[in-house]
Amino acid sequence: MTKIYLDHAATTPVDNEILQKMLPYFIEAYGNADSPHSVGRTAMNAVDGARDLVASLLRAKPSEIYFTSGGTEADNWAMIGGAYAQKAVGKAHVILSSIEHHAVLAAAEKLEKEGFDVTYLPVNEGGMVTADALKAALRADTGLVAVMAANNETGVKQPVAELVKLVHENGSLFFTDAVQLAPYEGLDVKALGVDLLSLSSHKFYGPKGCGVLYIKSGVKVEKYVQGGEQERGMRGGTTNVPCVVGLAAAYEKCRKTAEEVNAKLVALRALFLKQLEDLDGVHINGDITLALPSVVNLRFDGVNNVDFLYNMDLKGICVSAGSACSSASIKPSHVLTAMGLTEDEVRSSIRFSFGKNNTEADVMATGAAVKETVLRLRGM
Ligand code: PLP
Repeated sequence: MTKIYLDHAATTPVDNEILQKMLPYFIEAYGNADSPHSVGRTAMNAVDGARDLVASLLRAKPSEIYFTSGGTEADNWAMIGGAYAQKAVGKAHVILSSIEHHAVLAAAEKLEKEGFDVTYLPVNEGGMVTADALKAALRADTGLVAVMAANNETGVKQPVAELVKLVHENGSLFFTDAVQLAPYEGLDVKALGVDLLSLSSHKFYGPKGCGVLYIKSGVKVEKYVQGGEQERGMRGGTTNVPCVVGLAAAYEKCRKTAEEVNAKLVALRALFLKQLEDLDGVHINGDITLALPSVVNLRFDGVNNVDFLYNMDLKGICVSAGSACSSASIKPSHVLTAMGLTEDEVRSSIRFSFGKNNTEADVMATGAAVKETVLRLRGM
């Protein structure tokens, strides 16, 4: 059965052009980038090139770019390394939004257990953190504030630039997890003003297991992964050269093609929603006018999302009930709960996330399958 994949917020396939750029670094130029001989230097040249490219795309300096094993490590590093460094100057209060990815939430829980004071910001019913909520939470001892750039379950973008201003006026650091926003919008770290920002390569058609943490120069963050002197002594571990090369190439390609891809995604999503117009009891979770072009989170009255997912999977259609990290257990989404949905409403919500390889035919087939499945599950 040909699969229809509508779960691009969970991960994207590696673009073949990107894979071809990575392959030589597995087989021919396989050196350890820290080895002083020629095979090592070839690898290090590739890593330097990738760092320069990512830095120029983010309007950062190469010395501000650190490669990690993915978004989770970058998020853990920003939260834990950032909070520890701020505690050392007497600021042990951390603020984060209640809709952060588990990589950020779990790091905050660890900090809380260690004695940090942690405040969770509410969101409005559209799924957005407001400046007022942040103002109410900021304190003289706030060291670090984390608000993601776009949410992974609803796609709703957050007003990062506005929040950064408030945080800096308060003398605190600002971290944004830009893992979901990065594929769709250019990021200019200087214009945004953030101190820390994370990316993950597998969300933009690059390899899994590779990410970036941007650390603004002058900002103190404790080392997180202990080991050798890689990444200017800040992150131990032999550099994953093929993946770093793939990340940079994938990010460049996605930036170059974003305008065209985004227009296609918006059109596919609109076509999908149009097909569901004659189905009763369908609601959009979150403010779609603020959402990424690729995502729509829908609620179907009277439909259990686990049953829905299972039935769609039998038809070869891959969608999601929320973040992939919690889908094995399908716990009720903390994001939708924070937006004020009841447990029943949360349990009838599904995320559809489109990608650049989807076609109108995929969307038409999915629309028909959704209608058939919803009506059957409602016993109609
Ligand atoms: N942050 C967000 C918003 C995500 O959506 C994800 C991935 O699902 C991550 C962080 C974790 O990234 P990775 O899968 O590279 O560890």
